[in-house]
Amino acid sequence: MMRVIGCITNQHDPRLLVLAACICLLACFTTLTLVARAERPGRLGLLAWLAAAAAVFGCGVWSLHFVAMLAFMPGTEITYRPGLTLLSILVATCGTLLALLCQRLSLPRGIRCVLAGTALGASVAAMHATGVAAMDVPGTLWIDRPQLAWSLVVGILLAMIAFARSDRLSRLGRRIEVSAWLAACVLSIHFIGMSALQITLGPHAAARGMPGPGVGAPGGFSYGMLATGVGAVSLVVLVASLAATLMEQHLSDRTVLELKRLRLLSSISREVMIIHQDGLILEVNAAGATLFGEPMDALIGRQFLELFSAGSQAAAQAQMNQGSEPQAPAKLEVRVRGGRLVPVEVACRAIDFIGRPATAVALVDQSERRRDAETIRHLAQHDALTGVPNRLLLHERMIHTLAASDAQQTSVALLHLDLDRFKACNDLLGDHGADLLLSELASRLTAELRSSDTLARIGGDEFVIVCALQDDARQVAALAGRLLETLGQAFEHEGLRVAPSASIGIALYPQDAVNQAALLRAAGTALREAKRESPGSFKFFERGMDLVLHERVELEHDLRLAIENDELELHYQPLFSCSSGVIEGYEALIRWHHPKRGMVMPIDFIPLAEQTGLIVPVGEWAIRTACIEASTWPARQSIAVNVSPMQFRQSNLPSIVADALLTSGLPAHRLEIEITEGVLITDTDEAIRTLSALRAQGVRVSLDDFGTGYSSLSYLSSFAVDKIKIDRSFVRTLGQGEGADLLVRTIIELGHHLGLTVVAEGVETPQQLAMIQGKGCDQVQGYLLGRPARMDPARMDQNEPRQRAAGREPELQITAAL
Ligand code: C2E
Ligand code: CA
Ligand code: CA
Repeated sequence: MMRVIGCITNQHDPRLLVLAACICLLACFTTLTLVARAERPGRLGLLAWLAAAAAVFGCGVWSLHFVAMLAFMPGTEITYRPGLTLLSILVATCGTLLALLCQRLSLPRGIRCVLAGTALGASVAAMHATGVAAMDVPGTLWIDRPQLAWSLVVGILLAMIAFARSDRLSRLGRRIEVSAWLAACVLSIHFIGMSALQITLGPHAAARGMPGPGVGAPGGFSYGMLATGVGAVSLVVLVASLAATLMEQHLSDRTVLELKRLRLLSSISREVMIIHQDGLILEVNAAGATLFGEPMDALIGRQFLELFSAGSQAAAQAQMNQGSEPQAPAKLEVRVRGGRLVPVEVACRAIDFIGRPATAVALVDQSERRRDAETIRHLAQHDALTGVPNRLLLHERMIHTLAASDAQQTSVALLHLDLDRFKACNDLLGDHGADLLLSELASRLTAELRSSDTLARIGGDEFVIVCALQDDARQVAALAGRLLETLGQAFEHEGLRVAPSASIGIALYPQDAVNQAALLRAAGTALREAKRESPGSFKFFERGMDLVLHERVELEHDLRLAIENDELELHYQPLFSCSSGVIEGYEALIRWHHPKRGMVMPIDFIPLAEQTGLIVPVGEWAIRTACIEASTWPARQSIAVNVSPMQFRQSNLPSIVADALLTSGLPAHRLEIEITEGVLITDTDEAIRTLSALRAQGVRVSLDDFGTGYSSLSYLSSFAVDKIKIDRSFVRTLGQGEGADLLVRTIIELGHHLGLTVVAEGVETPQQLAMIQGKGCDQVQGYLLGRPARMDPARMDQNEPRQRAAGREPELQITAAL
């Protein structure tokens, strides 16, 4: 120890010693700063940083050695061999790198410290030895080997301590401490090593004396000034490299901060953010990891184009190839985990990413939007209640179906289906029940159709079916038959049971119509004809039908003018007492004297008047006219006026009737209003109110066409009517079987049981009359006894006596009476 102290104090220039110590400390600190830089997480090029640290340490230690050797005053001139000098630097650098790498081996910490410390200590010692060997001294060198070994041991121990303490080098305090341990290691090796060195000078050395500063040494490096120069340059280099490292660290800290900010921002974004450079993914956010179902690290480093489906890669490439201008988003598909394809909207933009040109890509998952769009599209094109296509989709489908039919030279059948008496079902089942009925019927229809057919709901109870490639009309007829059959099956809801029925109009393309609109019109015309002729059936469109339609339009126009032009008149059909044969009243039956068509019967214009609402003024005219005319008849004769369902619902019937009675002076008890069951089925409460209001005035109410509606008997007990008129279809069957006779008898008895007057209408034969009379019916009406005709009041009184004899020869006598 004393030898070492003596060596330092006696044999070295103290100023250069201070310089050497400074170089050593600074070299250690710079090295550790570089090592700390290399240890930062996520750094690329760890080896490069460690190599730089090793190089700084190697050069620094060599500078120390060089300056310290110059400070060593052996009292003679020393020269250095350049080759060995450089080798000594290389030895120190490589040894240090080896030590730093040992420190990173995946071994227990203690072993790592021992290995790294040994490598470092040995390399510094080797450098020292090589440096000494590089000295060219004019004399002989003697080395105290134990002392040299001692320097090695001390150096290695101190190096181990330095490595043991080198775990948190990012902290300045720790870096200073470890720098001190390292410096101690280096200085110990150097000075203990120097103390092991004895130089015996040759005869020429002492004569030359100490060289002055700035004097070159022949054949080698200069010393004196040279020592100061090398020391100063070393210091400057070390300070500069330290400053550069710290500056780089500061910049990279900012980069890391920026990256952190970028990641934070992108992590809260629901959009997928990707940054790629020439297609290589550098960054991706959490939303990207979620979308692709892979961790972010697995995505980073992959090729951007690989994310896309094969079909989208060309478009994605095109987006990538666009310039630096922001691009309009493209709609592409990416392939996510499990091979599923997800629609995305892709927008790219060129950016500067940590000083490098890169591309930022935003991917917006379109699945939800596409689902929403599909839902909206579905809602817009389908009927909400039944789920079948609506008019809009029908229109689209028809365009395609007709085009395909044109191309393939085949036909298309269009079936226009309308439920019969749906309003009545609706009233019976309630709104909810009727909704369920419609859904059920739509399902039944769908079940009968092929997948290529289209079923659309185009109105409350209207459906349209488009069947492509139906060449054979018989096939279509068979389908229509099946549809009617399936619809006709009973439907039950909350204990209520209805038997739905429908009518179908069928038109064929291109046979019946040249385009979509005409085809729909033709099927509609056929439907109206089916409804008119026999509801519950189907009908194919025929050429003449559109003429009928045209005529209807014309007729409607004319009917509007009919009242004004005084073209309407009432014919009267008598009602006879079955027992006495006396005319007890007349039924008013409307007739229209059309200026061109002649006499138009009610069957040809009352339904039209109902559809167009013209029934309101026409019906009112009938009531007023009947009252006025009847007011002139004998007091015992009543007048029955027909009121259609629409008229019953729409006009203010009780007040019209009251006004007609008042104006005409006809006593209320002589007026009968004939209604049909249809009036009672629809909006029952309102019907009961109207009926009550009529009866409160003293007007009587007859239930016309009794037996043709459904559940007729139940109405009799619940509705306030005075009379029932057995429909002529029952009268016609009289004498054709026991069942029919029994039915008529039962109706008559039931009516009587309820205290009602029973009338049989449509009596055409004496046999029918006899049977009706035999069953105890109250009144009778029919062509046999009197056809509807204009009333001639003048003849009325004359006829009366003969009418009384009706019981004997009814046909002749009664008909003659009119
Ligand atoms: P409705 O109320 O059932 O009237 C009886 C219909 O049967 C009348 O036909 C009458 O001419 C016909 N008829 C009478 N006896 C016989 C017979 O023995 N055999 C046959 N086959 N038919 C017979 P019309 O006059 O053509 O009236 C048809 C329907 O038009 C009436 O049926 C009624 O519902 C309606 N109607 C007539 N006038 C009016 C009116 O002023 N207002 C309203 N709303 N409807 C009316
Ligand atoms: Ca009637
Ligand atoms: Ca009738």
